[in-house]
Amino acid sequence: MTTYLIRNAQILGGAPRDIHIVDGVFAAIGEDLDVRADIDIDAHGLVALPGLVDLHTHLREPGREDAETVLTGTRAAAMGGYTAVHAMANTFPVADSAGVVEQVWRLGRESGYCDVQPVGAVTVGLEGKQLAELGAMHDSAAGVRVFSDDGKCVDDAVIMRRALEYVKAFDGVVAQHAQEPRLTAGAQMNEGRVSGELGLGGWPAVAEESIIARDVLLAAHVGSRVHICHLSTAGSVEIVRWAKAKGWDVTAEVTPHHLLLTDELVRSYDPVYKVNPPLRTAEDVEALREALADGTIDAVATDHAPHPAEDKDCEWAVAAMGMVGLETALSVVQQTMVDTGLLNWEGVADRMSHRPARIGRLAGHGRPISVGEPANLVLFDPAYRGVVNPDTFATRSRNSPYKGMDLPGRVHATFLRGEATVLAGELVER
Ligand SMILES: [Zn+2]
Repeated sequence: MTTYLIRNAQILGGAPRDIHIVDGVFAAIGEDLDVRADIDIDAHGLVALPGLVDLHTHLREPGREDAETVLTGTRAAAMGGYTAVHAMANTFPVADSAGVVEQVWRLGRESGYCDVQPVGAVTVGLEGKQLAELGAMHDSAAGVRVFSDDGKCVDDAVIMRRALEYVKAFDGVVAQHAQEPRLTAGAQMNEGRVSGELGLGGWPAVAEESIIARDVLLAAHVGSRVHICHLSTAGSVEIVRWAKAKGWDVTAEVTPHHLLLTDELVRSYDPVYKVNPPLRTAEDVEALREALADGTIDAVATDHAPHPAEDKDCEWAVAAMGMVGLETALSVVQQTMVDTGLLNWEGVADRMSHRPARIGRLAGHGRPISVGEPANLVLFDPAYRGVVNPDTFATRSRNSPYKGMDLPGRVHATFLRGEATVLAGELVER
């Protein structure tokens, strides 16, 4: 294996240190290390973080390879500083059996850019009627621990209760896409002042909050673990805060786009801003940032949702919902959380690596940058300033809401178990 000597990296934003990587692990860390390596990297001014872990990625394979494949998605993940992603189950066929999750897991291993941990569907075909074979998916080579019908809500309370009870047996977790379906029938955007002015069907905050309230109560009732996907409202934050204060095993994530963008953007009628849950108000954005800072929200998760141009370059009403996000997540977090003083780099490592790895029970990721640990690492340049150009992205799709925006920071290098996947801001061909 190639050995690396990284000079003067600021580990979690601290004082400059050298990092020696040998045989996939951190072999030495210190000042002015007197060691040799195949490749020397000058990391002056770069922040070193543990490899990022995404709890919520749509890789689209199998079935929608026109939008993304495991290979293109994991290349995008590496460019974003990720070393592990959880691949959502809403593929074609749905990842609701041992066969499909093993296929996705194997494709991830073959890509070599990023570990892919498949998420299993909670119900057969994401139809919300019958529990999928959760035990078989857990016992498969993929070792599934996170289950979600994401894209759809597990709205039947009895099915949700059974799923929560079932996953207890192997320390699994149900990740809920909280959306009361009847309250959101025909919804096109956040329900509020802007939807009223534009005359678009509203997606009310209560449709998210009522499901979260029910599910934290259910999780407490059966003594299981629930994770709430893409929290988007101030009210959702209050419910999660209350559940955590009770000591219940509840975790939550927020997307980068909900930390930065608001429903005012919908006035453009540009479908690049159409997403589920929808962009909310400035007050919601403020509450989400504060909750991520104080730890009420555990993790940033991208909800990377690639779509081909024909599904996005159309009328608002018929456009698909979702945004790509792997390659811009760390920059958005720098702008919204670090540059605002809400979170330091240690906090970023906690919310984007340590805690998501712990929620997914992913061994070997979200570990400290210390001697003997697997060398999963990102070197990030926070001083970089540039305009986002989706044409340069590694993802197969171009539906980025940040196109043309100035965002700070850039990934300089990513290492997966000691092998560089990105060097000098470019993918390493493998
Ligand atoms: Zn979702």
